[in-house]
Amino acid sequence: MEKTTENFQTEVNELLQLIIHSLYSHPDIFLRELISNASDALDKLKIEALTNATLTASGYEPVIRLTANSEARTLTISDNGIGMTAEEIRENLGRIAHSGTKQFKLAKEQNADLIGQFGVGFYSAFIVADRVIVETQKAGLSEGVRWESEGKGSFSVEPCVRPEGAGTSITLHLKAADKEEGGLQDFTEEWVLRSIVKKHSDFISYPVKMQVSRTQKSTVDSSQEVTTLEDVTLNTQKAIWTKSPSDVSKEEYNEFYQHLSHDYTPPLKTIHYRAEGTVEFHGLLYIPEKRPWNFDYEGTAKGLSLYAKRVLIMSDCEDLLPPYLRFVRGVVDSSDLSLNVSREILQQDRQIAQIRRALTTKVVKALTDMLKDERETYEKFWRNFGPTLKEGVVREPEKKETLLPVMLYNTTHGDKLITLAEYVERMKPQQPAIYYITGQSLDVLKGSPLLERLNQKGYEVILMDHPVDDFVVSKVDSFQEHPLTSIAATDLELDNEEEKKDREEKLKEKREQFGSLIEVVKETLSEHVKDVQLSSRLTDSAVCLVSDEGNTQFMDQMYRQMGQEPPKTKRVMELNPNHPLFTRMQGLSRESQKDWSELLYFQALISEGAKVEDPASFVRKMTKVMVESAAT
Ligand code: ADP
Ligand code: MG
Repeated sequence: MEKTTENFQTEVNELLQLIIHSLYSHPDIFLRELISNASDALDKLKIEALTNATLTASGYEPVIRLTANSEARTLTISDNGIGMTAEEIRENLGRIAHSGTKQFKLAKEQNADLIGQFGVGFYSAFIVADRVIVETQKAGLSEGVRWESEGKGSFSVEPCVRPEGAGTSITLHLKAADKEEGGLQDFTEEWVLRSIVKKHSDFISYPVKMQVSRTQKSTVDSSQEVTTLEDVTLNTQKAIWTKSPSDVSKEEYNEFYQHLSHDYTPPLKTIHYRAEGTVEFHGLLYIPEKRPWNFDYEGTAKGLSLYAKRVLIMSDCEDLLPPYLRFVRGVVDSSDLSLNVSREILQQDRQIAQIRRALTTKVVKALTDMLKDERETYEKFWRNFGPTLKEGVVREPEKKETLLPVMLYNTTHGDKLITLAEYVERMKPQQPAIYYITGQSLDVLKGSPLLERLNQKGYEVILMDHPVDDFVVSKVDSFQEHPLTSIAATDLELDNEEEKKDREEKLKEKREQFGSLIEVVKETLSEHVKDVQLSSRLTDSAVCLVSDEGNTQFMDQMYRQMGQEPPKTKRVMELNPNHPLFTRMQGLSRESQKDWSELLYFQALISEGAKVEDPASFVRKMTKVMVESAAT
């Protein structure tokens, strides 16, 4: 491998400037970031070594070491973790790959005052250093890589020899310290490093060591002083999850959360408890406030870290919680597990299944309490993770009893999110059902012609605008014994006996009046709709489409995403017999009636936010009808 000089991805340059300028008042975060990376690297090696024992020599002790040189003005942070290949170093330290860094950039772009809330990652080294050298060797390889940069547009990569073997050393050439108030501290001083580690990295589960010199009176001649070198561990490595909750401060909980999640917004809720009984474990779980930008992408960290007696055995263990709680971060530590479990074994492990049940109950209980006691906080949670939680009803319908009460919905009455129980409380005395409509967006739903008659009756309608809602309602047919009814159903009945009689009489009349017109419409649209009927649910609009299949738009989308043509489900088109349009239409020629029929169908589609399949033909028809109407 030759030495090469390469440019940072353009965004990195911008980001570096941003970090240096906006974080100069919080310079010490660089150490937290680099120690956290070292700890991640040790975790990764430990997990790899579970299946490939040759990666760690016998007697291997994971350690993070700080080496300060006050004359050379350097500070080195080294670890004997997984290391990086040349390719990996280019990817990791030449581009913007990780979430905290991206979020930081976004927040800055929006001018948010969020400094210090983000994990800015490796690049934070340039807050305190004007030259950074990374020497790293990937575990299992015999050659190392040296990366160097001044943080000004480019970096170099070349081979190097690492006598220590696998691991990473990051050497910072420190900017000049400044004794002034608010100036840069001297990061080669023991007490400075000690206090930063104590503050931000105390819980790191590997020792952070440093060699310090101690001057003592000589034991031989007490008038003489001798200086000895001593290895000290700066962090207590306390596993806060094994402590009693009363001994852990909020700051400690939050610091640990940041370390776990790389999310620097404090969590909405911390759940810390110890389970006793058939299966014993410590659980420390967090419900985040923020939805990670890459939450639903393949390959993003999900799940909890699994420990056995304070030894990490798996990070991102997805079997400890059901997928619909995948936003929860945290740690589970059980003394009953063996150290070399594989992911495959875990899936069938009875203890894991028990832990999963216990954790699920805890989290759902915490959410239920949050909804009850901290409504605003819960609504924040809901906006970010509501759709994920709804998946629970679909995947595990037996969880309905506990999940449905914590669902929030928009409705036609006001802008506030409400629960189903609140809906039921507000129902009109004679209201036969809980009504809902599903569709693409709140705006489209609010304007739906299907709402007209319900609005007239004063019935509140739940507006469901997320794709998962259609699946949810397919699993739920009632709540508190009130049926859950789609207002797009063909057989929706809103009238009482008397109104029904009255309506039937009027409809009979209208049917006679419009009989032949209905036939023309039906014939024209036979390819698109199953039937054409006179409607009793419209008051203002001319037409709407109804169906018993629920909203098929999303299902259709899903079929298309899977590369299949969706099955063609025809719906029923309803006409508003009281709309002047039909009287007008009756006087037209048969050919014009056909054109109008098609336009009516397009209208109905557009009002649901659906795409017109053949826009060109729509425009042609529309223009033709406009010209004709101008001529008369
Ligand atoms: P993050 O830690 O959030 O992924 P960073 O900017 O801190 O983001 O680090 C970027 C990447 O660089 C890490 O994900 C990791 O792959 C790699 N990296 C950084 N430091 C080390 C290290 N000490 N050992 C191995 N890999 C490292
Ligand atoms: Mg990091």
